[in-house]
Amino acid sequence: MRLPHAIDLDDAALRESVARKTESATTLLRRIATDYRPAALANSLSVEDMLLTDLIHRERLDIENFSLDTGRLPTETYDLIAAAETRYGRKFTWYYPRHDLVEPYVRTHGINAFRESVELRRACCHARKVEPLQRALAGKRAWITGMRAQQSATRAHLPEQVFDEANGLEKFNPLADWTEREVWAYIRLNDVPYNALHDRFYPSIGCAPCTRAITVGEDIRAGRWWWERPETKECGLHAKQP
Ligand code: SF4
Repeated sequence: MRLPHAIDLDDAALRESVARKTESATTLLRRIATDYRPAALANSLSVEDMLLTDLIHRERLDIENFSLDTGRLPTETYDLIAAAETRYGRKFTWYYPRHDLVEPYVRTHGINAFRESVELRRACCHARKVEPLQRALAGKRAWITGMRAQQSATRAHLPEQVFDEANGLEKFNPLADWTEREVWAYIRLNDVPYNALHDRFYPSIGCAPCTRAITVGEDIRAGRWWWERPETKECGLHAKQP
């Protein structure tokens, strides 16, 4: 089994497609920074979001970079944050869950209740991710994500731009048409910091108890909430998107 970043960087066609899509994504980010101020990148610390962080930093765009600390993130993710803050010379903006939502949930259902049903899993994601996201997006005119159409069945028809009715602002997915190979080519060509778990066959990383490594032949989202069916595997941050 090959690691996702084990790719041939001398592949001329790959370099050409990465350069073309980088230009396209940069143009879109510039437009967002100009026409949709205040805008924010919801940074999940994925390789896609690190790519976007790199573009925003290079272009010195006026786009906020925020992340959600669910309280259940892997150690490697915190290590990545420290490395990224050093690399880019700026602190990320953090949002945390409300204690008055998390504490009753844990007291009533238990510390790992998210494994018991889709409803309890979604309730945990709501308290630890969705509610903090809503606070982070309040007052913004646009938010940016690193989602790609190829990532899962739930994202197959992902648009580059769509009005997010649930949060009441424009949503942009500048990497919607990027392949995993192209993302990794950008990361390697530009020496962008990434989560060390990717070197241990974790292609998609979220909270520690809800993320595992994948094996040969598995989908790249197979390691997220692996006890659920593919069509339920969204945390609620993006579930209302077409
Ligand atoms: S990914 Fe898991 S631990 Fe994290 S908020 Fe969702 S259910 Fe809770």
